[in-house]
Amino acid sequence: MATPQHAFFKGQIVPYSEAKVGVLTHALNYGTACFGGVRGYWNADEQELFVFRPHEHFKRFVQSAKLLDMQLPFEADDLVAKLGELLRLENYKEDCYIRPLAYYADEGIGVRLHGLTPEVSIVAMPFGRYIDKEEGVHVTISSWRRVDDNTIPPRGKIAGSYVNSAYAKTDAQRAGFDEAIVLNSAGHIAEGSAENFFLVRNGVVVTPPVTEGILEGITRRTVMQLLRDELGATVVERPIDRTELFLADEAFFTGTGVQIAAITKVDHRLVGTGRMGPLVSRLRSLYFDVVRGKVARYRTWCAPVYDTVAHARGGAVGVLA
Ligand code: PMP
Repeated sequence: MATPQHAFFKGQIVPYSEAKVGVLTHALNYGTACFGGVRGYWNADEQELFVFRPHEHFKRFVQSAKLLDMQLPFEADDLVAKLGELLRLENYKEDCYIRPLAYYADEGIGVRLHGLTPEVSIVAMPFGRYIDKEEGVHVTISSWRRVDDNTIPPRGKIAGSYVNSAYAKTDAQRAGFDEAIVLNSAGHIAEGSAENFFLVRNGVVVTPPVTEGILEGITRRTVMQLLRDELGATVVERPIDRTELFLADEAFFTGTGVQIAAITKVDHRLVGTGRMGPLVSRLRSLYFDVVRGKVARYRTWCAPVYDTVAHARGGAVGVLA
């Protein structure tokens, strides 16, 4: 993956090569950082880069920081504005991925959350697919359990807890699967290594509630709204047993990286017909139109980066100004 040209680092935009930390950095040693993952979608017809739901992403980012007791020197809206500046400098005319990071920057020994100084960085880089087989993922139920709210809260994107995701992902891939499904400490389906989980059974869409050890996903929220308001589906949040996946008609992952990926096999058993089902297929095409700003009703979710008219006016709602 090519590295970016610039980074927002310690309050200003600098060449990426200057955005460096020392080996004693608290976050590097103890995992005391949190991050975000946001996508920018290029719309070739409009020659515009749309960032998908940046305010929601940065709001969750600030909340993840709050879970780590961090008083960030920026509000979510300030960071959205900085992102706009950074993206205009990078001048991307293709899909990209944006990574904000808040980390305890102190260099010294001593594990704790108090009396430390947070710093924020943002970088953006060109990005395509996160999972190659979005149309048909073969998952395994991981032997690793999801961290829970009383170990490291999974509702925020806390850097240290991604060791849990990394165990699950590596074991799944080494065993020949595309992705892992991780159970929570109660043995219910929580989520994928970096994706929220949904299944469809008897015409009802089911997903675990936010109290089941999952990240409070922005794509999850988006998809629940699209399913209900545009596709007329019933969506229920409730705990899900492992074997419900064996009996599901359809199943899918959602996430900024994975977007919407059909789960077509679990531990060598077919999910439904073993091919992407009709609801996931309709949802995917709607989602891809929505994120590129092609659906008027959801256009406010897509913040234009290069909208020069709006910038001349001093910024408008939904604009990355
Ligand atoms: N769960 C985990 C563990 C994740 O890392 C992600 C990716 N951010 C998701 C779910 C999906 O969240 P979102 O839709 O906000 O990207």
